[in-house]
Amino acid sequence: MIENIREELARLEGLGLRRSFKVIVGPQGPVVRMDGREVLLMCSNDYLNLANHPLVKKAAIEATERWGASAGASRLVSGTMEPHAMLEERIRQFKGVEAALLFNSGYNANLALLSTLADRTAEVFSDRLNHASIVDACVLSRAKVTRYANRDIDALERLLKTSKARTRIIITDSVFSMDGTLAPLREITSLAERYGAMLIVDDAHATGVLGNTGQGSLEHFGIKNPDIIQMGTLGKALGSFGAFVAARKEVIDLLISKARPLIYTTALPPSVCAAAAKAIDIIEEDPSLLKRLWQNTGRLKERLSLAGLDTMESSTPIVPVLAGDAKKVMKISASLLDKGVFIQGIRPPTVPDGTARLRATLSAAHSTDDIDRAAAAIIEAFNVQ
Ligand SMILES: *Cc1c(COP(=O)(O)O)cnc(C)c1O
Repeated sequence: MIENIREELARLEGLGLRRSFKVIVGPQGPVVRMDGREVLLMCSNDYLNLANHPLVKKAAIEATERWGASAGASRLVSGTMEPHAMLEERIRQFKGVEAALLFNSGYNANLALLSTLADRTAEVFSDRLNHASIVDACVLSRAKVTRYANRDIDALERLLKTSKARTRIIITDSVFSMDGTLAPLREITSLAERYGAMLIVDDAHATGVLGNTGQGSLEHFGIKNPDIIQMGTLGKALGSFGAFVAARKEVIDLLISKARPLIYTTALPPSVCAAAAKAIDIIEEDPSLLKRLWQNTGRLKERLSLAGLDTMESSTPIVPVLAGDAKKVMKISASLLDKGVFIQGIRPPTVPDGTARLRATLSAAHSTDDIDRAAAAIIEAFNVQ
């Protein structure tokens, strides 16, 4: 048995696809300690630097003191505590929706949504570049799954037109996590309305990032449709952990009664809920956070584009730089780290073959100096390789 595993590891190594962890010493932030020295961190999803915000940490600590370290049971047994109820109400207000329900991660929430809303007779229309959790959720749903080319509205319409399924579900990332591009949500919403399809929007990288007040992609596009089912995460811009679904009350009620990834898992710890609720308060009270995030994003993209690097049509704080080959991108990433700039390379199967890329993510807490230093290092690393 162990021989097979060794062989598989060697095969992955040969392809430049063997993965390993890099340990960060101390909290997340624009600058972190790694391997005994300080490096500029430019691949965290902690967009607003809230993971280490004093008030977010204080909320988590106080919640632990008041409610303990664990929820001790699943939500439907005895694991629903005040922090869960309070956070769900906070999210409901923040998102301006009928109801919200917590999940233990975005991965879980996507599994829950598709396995609850789709059955064997349903057809799920899924963008080809949707997050891996949606791909897995499609499998778990046992529905017929039809994938359409990335952001291709015409392809989606053709498929909807010919579909014979009674239940049709369109699911899309709002921000494609490896490209930083946006789904054409206005057009997709119209198609969903026209063809009587349910629409699920994965706002993992949009929550706390897109829209004037950070509500997410629907705010960004000015879409007001209470039938849209939104999934957002708490572990990215909200600096905590977990996820939520925001939807009509009936959708939430059905998830509570049927979603196995909710029913058969222990509820989030109180500290995590309290931290996320505080993060929402901070985002609402301090619009300068979002402003700085987008200023930093514009600055990095401008520097890279001027140097002729391909940032792949990104229109968010996720900034990919196309390298192509998996080994090449890992070399570039390693050479950047040597210069004190930590940006991960992303390889297949996370991205399609031949499109390995460096993937930078910006933070509101990066200084202009940080951005300029990173840009110079990226440009140099690409020129050398
Ligand atoms: C990160 C991410 C998820 C998973 O969320 P977790 O809370 O980290 O499990 C789901 N969808 C997309 C698009 C993501 O980027």
